[in-house]
Amino acid sequence: MANHSRTKPENLSLAKLAPQDFIAPNFRLHELTRSEIASRLGVDNAFPGDRELRAAVHLARKVLQPLRDTFGGFTPNSVFRSQALERVLKRKPSGWLSTSQHTRACACDIEIVGKSTLELAQWAADNLPDYDQIICECYDPDEGPNSGWVHLSLKPPEQGENRKQLLSYIRDMSGGQWLYVPGLRASVG
Ligand SMILES: [Zn+2]
Repeated sequence: MANHSRTKPENLSLAKLAPQDFIAPNFRLHELTRSEIASRLGVDNAFPGDRELRAAVHLARKVLQPLRDTFGGFTPNSVFRSQALERVLKRKPSGWLSTSQHTRACACDIEIVGKSTLELAQWAADNLPDYDQIICECYDPDEGPNSGWVHLSLKPPEQGENRKQLLSYIRDMSGGQWLYVPGLRASVG
């Protein structure tokens, strides 16, 4: 096991890393591609190349590590998702291509036990120095403070400016359908 938590992302390559290696002070390489569904169904969720590896490491250091420093131990629900895994998750045919930032390793989904999903999203908006999108997803206070998750994305420097967008994906109680609305909130109205 090696510690690469201080190696610059541009100097990291898949050929020289092992799954247990640290790529941030408290995160190991394997946590960035971990997926219960992928391992259960035998779907390949490895990084396709160093570009995705480096984007994920950038995200781990600038988003996951500050959350770890503040809230203690957790493992992200999902960081990188391969096109194959996206097709399984979203029930799409072969050949369909996902545009999710997870497929470029620029996004993570987070839940932290004991911290309400909406509060966690707000903390990230107030405290992370940079982010592309923070989306409070599927949060429903009736289902408990930990319902849903927070989707956080951050583009690495070579992919352009981050937009600092805040969104919520919630159920419109009048119509019942799920929709994206601006801002971090628990209800549409
Ligand atoms: Zn997500």
